Amino acid sequence: MLESVTCTLCGEELPPADGVIFDGRQLCRSCYEDHTVICDRCGERIWTDDDCGDENHTLCHDCMDRYYDHCADCGQLVPLEDLRYLPDEDEGDNGYCESCYNRLLQEQGVRSYCYKPEPIFYGSGNRYLGVELEIDGAGESDSNARIIRGVGNQAHEHIYVKHDGSLDDGLEIVSHPMTLAYHMSEMPWKEIVNKARQLGYTSHQAGTCGLHVHVNRSSLGDTYRQQDNTIARILFLVETF
Ligand SMILES: [Zn+2]
Ligand SMILES: [Zn+2]
Ligand SMILES: [Zn+2]
Repeated sequence: MLESVTCTLCGEELPPADGVIFDGRQLCRSCYEDHTVICDRCGERIWTDDDCGDENHTLCHDCMDRYYDHCADCGQLVPLEDLRYLPDEDEGDNGYCESCYNRLLQEQGVRSYCYKPEPIFYGSGNRYLGVELEIDGAGESDSNARIIRGVGNQAHEHIYVKHDGSLDDGLEIVSHPMTLAYHMSEMPWKEIVNKARQLGYTSHQAGTCGLHVHVNRSSLGDTYRQQDNTIARILFLVETF
């Protein structure tokens, strides 16, 4: 009988030409197919047991370390360039896969102080007012922020709720720009304020809170000069009274 070799995994004897040497070991063709895989990233063949990937990826240890990380929420492997970071968490903290990121963003009730979404304009006219109402005394809590947002955003996305450094224990409710008519008749301010009060917040009485109203400059006059005149009159009224 011709010379034969033995597969070190299954013990089968086979002609040398039918065997494969991998990682210094003699294997038969089928053990080779069954027990080794190819890294998706670098193309190197590795033992299946050394695969650092998951059900969607085959990765050697090096490529896993260098190019991937686990989603901080669901644990799924994500290429580093696709990891997403929440606005309130520092880069380098927790990276998330796309779907966890979107879900967490939704759940994140309190927005950071710097949060500024694309404005949505409500009502029609040329003067839009955006309101920032600070409330204090019952916590900067995500669940309260969610509750208040829920009340304000039943019909449309009217408000968001932010962190405010000037408050001891509170939140800032911010409206998208709306016409005065919209604020008065469509906007559920009464429900928002009642809910905040029910949760234990105060605003005017807290002594720490401000109420700011933003208005578009273009609604204060046709020319820059007219706009400045209007602003001067507003300042005069505020400072005098
Ligand atoms: Zn074998
Ligand atoms: Zn690799
Ligand atoms: Zn995830």
